[in-house]
Amino acid sequence: MVTRFAPSPTGLLHLGHVRSAIEGWRRARVAGGRFLLRIEDIDLGRCRPEFTAAIEEDLRWLGLSWDGPVRVQSRHLPDYAAVLDGLRGRGLLYPCFCTRADVARAVTAQGGARMGPDGPVYPGTCRALPAAERARRLRAGEPHALRLDMARALQAVPGPLFYRELGGSMPASGGPLRRETPGVAPGAGRLVRCDPAAFGDVVLARKDVPASYHLCVTHDDALQGVTLVTRGEDLRPSTDLHRLLQALMGWPEPLYAHHPLLLGPDGQRLSKSAGSRPIRAWREAGASPQAVLALAESAGVA
Ligand code: GLU
Repeated sequence: MVTRFAPSPTGLLHLGHVRSAIEGWRRARVAGGRFLLRIEDIDLGRCRPEFTAAIEEDLRWLGLSWDGPVRVQSRHLPDYAAVLDGLRGRGLLYPCFCTRADVARAVTAQGGARMGPDGPVYPGTCRALPAAERARRLRAGEPHALRLDMARALQAVPGPLFYRELGGSMPASGGPLRRETPGVAPGAGRLVRCDPAAFGDVVLARKDVPASYHLCVTHDDALQGVTLVTRGEDLRPSTDLHRLLQALMGWPEPLYAHHPLLLGPDGQRLSKSAGSRPIRAWREAGASPQAVLALAESAGVA
C-alpha cells in the first residue's frame, strides 16, 4: 500500500490538514506500506517555500513520518509538459485565449452557465476557433490556457468510468497499529460511477502556470505508485475527472478513501481562509502532538 499527503503550501497546516495526513499515514503504517509527502506548489503566486518548511516541521512534530524524498511539483514542470504534449498530439487539447471577461460575456450571451465542480462550465468559445485564427494567435504569442476537449476525451475512453471507494476512516489513534489488517483485499470497496462531463472543457494548463492541479495530481499519483488516495470529501468531485485522465493516459487506477471534513466550533468547515488555528499555535500553547492528533480525529465532522 502506498498513500500520500499532498498539501499546497499556501499557509500553515491546520487540523483539517492533519486529519488528511493521519488518514494516509495510518493506512500505510497499518499495512506495512509507504506514506509519501508531496508538495503541490505549482501555483507559484500563492505558494511559499517557508510554508513548505513549516509543513515538514509540523508533520515531524506530530510524528507523521513520511518515506523517501519529498516530491515538490514545481521542480517537475517538464513532466507535466510532456503529458500535455501527448494529449495535444491526440487532438484532445485546444488553446483557450479567453480572459475572464470574455468567458463572462459568452456565458451571458448563451443565457447563463451550467455550474461544474470547478465553477461555471466553459462555453467553448475557443474550441470553435477556425484553425487559421488559432495558429495566428499562437504564432503571435498570445497568452493561452490549454483545455481538455471533453467530448473528444470521452470518446477516447471505453464505456462509463468508475472508481473504487473504500470509505470509512481508520480507527482513531491511541491504540497500537493493527498489523493484522494488511492493506486492502482485491475488489474491496464500493464502485462509484464518474461524471467527468460535469467539468466541461476543463483547464489542464493555466495561462499563468503551465500545468493544473488535476493534471499534476493524477500524473504524480501514477508516477509515485500511489495505490490509495486519501483526501477530504471536498475533493470527491475531482476524482471523476482524475479517473478520466487516468483512463486517457493508461495510468493505473488507485483506490480512493474520501474522509469527512472537520467542522469548526461555529459548525462551518475548517479552512485556512476561515482563520482556523494553525498547528503551530497549538504547539506554542503547550498542546502535545498526541492531543493535536486526537483533536484532528475527533473534532465534529461534516
Ligand atoms: N493539493 C491539494 C490541496 O491541498 C490536495 C490534493 C489531493 O489530495 O488530491 O487541497
